[in-house]
Amino acid sequence: MKTMEHIYINGQFVKPHGTQIQPLVNPTTREPFGSVLLGDEEDAKLAIQAAKAALASFSRTTVQERADMLQRLSDAIMERMDELAEANILEYGAPRMMAVGRVKLAAANFIDSKEALEQFEFVKYIGKAKVVSEPVGVIGIITPWNASYSQITAKLGAAIAAGCTVVIKPSELSALQTQLLTECFHAAGLPAGVINVVNGLGTTVGAEFTRNPDIAMINFTGSTRVGKEIRRATVDTMKRVTLELGGKSPNIVLDDADFAKAIPAAVRSCYTNNGQACVAGTRLFVPEHRLEEVKRLARETVESIKVGLPSEADTVLGPIVTEKQYLQVQHYIRKGIEEGAELVIGGEGHPDGLEQGNFVKPTVFANVTEVMTIAKEEIFGPVLSILTYKTEEEAVAMANNTDYGLGAYISTANLAKANELASRIQAGVVLINGAGFEMKAPFGGFKHSGIGREYGVYGLEDCLETKTITGYD
Ligand code: NAD
Repeated sequence: MKTMEHIYINGQFVKPHGTQIQPLVNPTTREPFGSVLLGDEEDAKLAIQAAKAALASFSRTTVQERADMLQRLSDAIMERMDELAEANILEYGAPRMMAVGRVKLAAANFIDSKEALEQFEFVKYIGKAKVVSEPVGVIGIITPWNASYSQITAKLGAAIAAGCTVVIKPSELSALQTQLLTECFHAAGLPAGVINVVNGLGTTVGAEFTRNPDIAMINFTGSTRVGKEIRRATVDTMKRVTLELGGKSPNIVLDDADFAKAIPAAVRSCYTNNGQACVAGTRLFVPEHRLEEVKRLARETVESIKVGLPSEADTVLGPIVTEKQYLQVQHYIRKGIEEGAELVIGGEGHPDGLEQGNFVKPTVFANVTEVMTIAKEEIFGPVLSILTYKTEEEAVAMANNTDYGLGAYISTANLAKANELASRIQAGVVLINGAGFEMKAPFGGFKHSGIGREYGVYGLEDCLETKTITGYD
């Protein structure tokens, strides 16, 4: 059993004041593998004090000093790559390839922040003014469970580059990963108090971050529901917020696309991270007259995907993170059937032979209409909804008919058409013909998918205040 009973404040691992113990459960087996002792409001306050005390000198460090620190953070993660990946597999049920990718991404995030820092102009001259960028202050970082390493490091890298100190509240479901990641931060040897990490609940530690006057900015990734709560809670102290929230991303396949490539890619993209990715393309739009072909290709793709133990090298789809979330996905599958969608493959229950964990059958629905629950709500499981359109106009209108606006996918042989569609889609990131993400470019959402942008220079800018000085010479 692994017992996580320390939080990290002012450069030291200390026991929290909080007394609540939460069991940690392996999603692959539903067996407990450890526990975490949660911090409380008192712990959050101590962490904030430490970050505030460290800010005075850290905000004056040189670009070179901070670039060195970012390099050390990246190196520290690469040094414990295997352990970090194993923890990701145990705690989240991430397939091995995915887990390794997540750790590499976490290390790369610090290098991207370092490069952004080295290129950034902290002083600009505009007319008779000198315009100076200064660190915004102490940043409260609050993250979800689904990609803890990359989310925390993207936010932390930007903060360090900007010269800000931080308090971090990771998801309570990622305590083992948090412990290892924090050990990496400690090994990187930044000044005490620059990075503080407090395990705890959103309603205690998270809430303290959002109302505490000594925090200047909240950088949050999580659900739209909690994002809205955070925005409300930060009004009185006038905090800046960066909110990376949920999605219901459209995937538009035009008639001229290579369907043999586009449809398998659409299915796989929807199932990324065991179907638990904010940018998953969960609504697939195809021309009405191609529906039968699409259904066949989707079915064949699902049949070729290995659902299995995350530790096995060829597993594509592992379990859902918690039993609660598993039941929620089952609820959505049932809703889809009840509301009249056509089940192409998958459905309720466990896949054969995988009854012991939170495994969901990879599921595809066709004849989904815009009013159905599965077309509107974020499911956070491997459930793809196929909708049909008659005209491209209709496809774009349906794609935009959602409160969300995080990602969008387009497949077509006509690149000019793809770019034209991209300009009409309300989403922060548009991926054309299977192109991947550019991690140095901004990432974030339109509409209810968020506020602000992360990664690269955009993430750095989000952590800076701007001061205009005239008469300086
Ligand atoms: P969640 O919103 O339930 O929790 C996220 C974090 O907020 C957790 O650390 C939680 O403890 C904390 N929290 C909860 N209530 C709080 C409060 N009142 N005040 C302060 N903090 C509080 O999300 P989750 O279930 O952990 O993660 C899944 C969600 O995250 C999905 O909606 C997904 O789309 C979203 N997500 C978005 C992105 C993105 O970049 N846009 C990336 C990954 C996940």
